[in-house]
Amino acid sequence: MEAVMKQKLSSQEAMTLENNHGAHNYHPLPVVLSKGKGVHVWDAEGKRYYDFLSAYSAVNQGHCHPKIVDALKEQAETLTLTSRAFYNDVLGAYEKYVTDFFGFDKVLPMNTGAEAVETAIKLCRKWAYEKKEIPENQAKIIVCENNFHGRTTTIISFSNDPDARENFGPYTEGFIRIPYNDLDALSEALKENNVAGFLVEPIQGEAGVFVPDDSYLTEAAKMCKENNVLFIADEVQTGVARTGKLLACDHENVKPDVLILGKAISGGVYPVSAVFANNEIMNVIQPGQHGSTFGGNPLACKVAIAALDVIIDEKLAENAEQMGQLFRQRMQKMVDSFELLSKVRGKGLLNAVVINDSPDSTTAWDICVALKENGLLAKPTHGNIIRFAPPLVISEEQLHECCDIIEKTISEF
Ligand code: PLP
Repeated sequence: MEAVMKQKLSSQEAMTLENNHGAHNYHPLPVVLSKGKGVHVWDAEGKRYYDFLSAYSAVNQGHCHPKIVDALKEQAETLTLTSRAFYNDVLGAYEKYVTDFFGFDKVLPMNTGAEAVETAIKLCRKWAYEKKEIPENQAKIIVCENNFHGRTTTIISFSNDPDARENFGPYTEGFIRIPYNDLDALSEALKENNVAGFLVEPIQGEAGVFVPDDSYLTEAAKMCKENNVLFIADEVQTGVARTGKLLACDHENVKPDVLILGKAISGGVYPVSAVFANNEIMNVIQPGQHGSTFGGNPLACKVAIAALDVIIDEKLAENAEQMGQLFRQRMQKMVDSFELLSKVRGKGLLNAVVINDSPDSTTAWDICVALKENGLLAKPTHGNIIRFAPPLVISEEQLHECCDIIEKTISEF
């Protein structure tokens, strides 16, 4: 045991260990990372790569950001976990900071994105019974086709991805699925009895970076308001400056009734997630009705404060907006000249390039393997879609270098 932990493993050895001893619930690109700094990661043999996944947009602030790591170290030596059985002297300050930051009365702290989505679902249902007076167990939440909100039993119950669902039933009831970016479908669904909420990703990330029409969120939020239905934005992937604004909803000045954040709220340094709402909604949750041993621990709170400070201090939303425009311009030129590429789409630094091939092909995977050889890491979201989402600290010079790598790879493919 000690021998395995002490020796410096080669990439091959590390992959073999994972393969033999870990559940096969992921299909990673064959690269073993052992160090990260800013926009770069290094493999076990010391080769350097640009990271264009950013841990699915958790590492918006760049790998091992010194300010966030310092906050972690300092708090780790002071107090890490008390549980919520007692008060701690960091949680309240964090709650004040983060609610001011995002403009809500209250926050409910959790750890992972899926937990935060579960929390939002429970909050919405409880609000529906206690405030909207929906009859017991009748509340329905509208969701979208091709959604991705996590992996819990309830969340996969309203997914339409066969891999996520098959043989994990029986499924949780109480969801109506409608096409994404379809206001007529939303309008129809809102006519059903006992609708409590509309849960939506402002841009569908895992589905392949689907950006809805310009006024979709505005209109959807308005329709929800008219029907006394909670507009619940899952900004776990789009939030915290990724799309060129603090929140993707900010592009339309839409304020969700319930906001779900995760991933980059901690800069990827520690699992932190959060659900935000104003008092008339959040106050339906009373002691004993929801919780988490780790949620709101002092370490998480200090890390999240530092991570959000970095977003503002380094103007990461502004940089994401500018670099995103540059990236799409460069990719559009490639789309115009390479038949292999059919489209680029996205907002800020959440972008995808669509390959001229079927969703069942391995072309996107093969391109990602070739990109890796050329020093850039990205991951397909489908057989024909590659998401490009570098840390938001990327400079113009670095971005051009990365576009050169992508161009070279595609031209040789
Ligand atoms: N919601 C969205 C929009 C996501 O993209 C994800 C993860 O990719 C989640 C929820 C789940 O987050 P986690 O993997 O931290 O549970």
